[in-house]
Amino acid sequence: MIVAVASGKGGTGKTTVTASLAAVWDQPVTGVDLDVEEPNLHLFLHPAMAGCEPAYLPVPVVDEARCTYCGACSELCRFKAISVMGQLLLTFPEMCHGCGGCLAVCPEQAIAPGKRELGEISWGRAGAAGFLSGRLRISEAMSPPLMRLVKARLQQMLAAGGGDAIIDAPPGVSCPAVNAVLDSDVILLVTEPTPFGFYDFQLAWEAFSPLGKPLGAVVNRAGLGNDAIYQFCREKGVPVLAEIPYDRAIAEAYARGLIIAGISGRLQETFISLRDRVRHLANSKAPRQAAHA
Ligand code: SF4
Ligand code: SF4
Repeated sequence: MIVAVASGKGGTGKTTVTASLAAVWDQPVTGVDLDVEEPNLHLFLHPAMAGCEPAYLPVPVVDEARCTYCGACSELCRFKAISVMGQLLLTFPEMCHGCGGCLAVCPEQAIAPGKRELGEISWGRAGAAGFLSGRLRISEAMSPPLMRLVKARLQQMLAAGGGDAIIDAPPGVSCPAVNAVLDSDVILLVTEPTPFGFYDFQLAWEAFSPLGKPLGAVVNRAGLGNDAIYQFCREKGVPVLAEIPYDRAIAEAYARGLIIAGISGRLQETFISLRDRVRHLANSKAPRQAAHA
């Protein structure tokens, strides 16, 4: 089972929930940081790293001696990463998505695969749990290609060792966030009961519910703000699977990089209950389908 932990905005406690859920998981599990622009799951899981390697995207390298400037590659590339103007061919590796289409379509075999460094992938162990993370290279604009490579590595790890995965997804509702939850069996939306939290939670529900996956909410800093999120969840049929209280001790533990499931018996029970409810939701096979008005 793959659990994706997402949120409509940053700072809601998504990574805190991911780390605590991984800590109380009672089956083999891998904690995965897919927030490759700002990975920070390691700050809570404190993994012992076993390896790290650069991740590359295949980009076209053109042998102009073979090129006839037919324009087929340029016409095919929807990202405008390769362009033919008369007898001039230009490539823009930073815009390339590595689909390989231009290589396949070139009638002269004038294009060979080169590579652009996207960032790095690292892995290790955090106690009983596995750990996997991607980190985007500074100044690299596109995170989905690196996320795809991290997910491919995860599939290899799951195929070799089995077990479950808990993914810390990027915040927000843009392409990387949706990309991160696509392979999951269940989505957890972490939110907080404030006006900002409610607004972004609605956006997240609109973005993720059309995927047709079981979806539940975790309300962090419960007791703050109002009950608008609870009302919205009731209306949309989104179960609130856990509430994490607004508590100074939790904020202090967060600031010290501690797993909050470990700071009190009550919080441990909260996350064990969350684990069981997530598993039940994932196995319910009853996707919360879109009910957009
Ligand atoms: S690999 Fe795909 S995205 Fe990159 S230049 Fe070729 S067609 Fe465009
Ligand atoms: S498809 Fe091949 S031959 Fe045609 S313009 Fe592109 S690189 Fe040149």
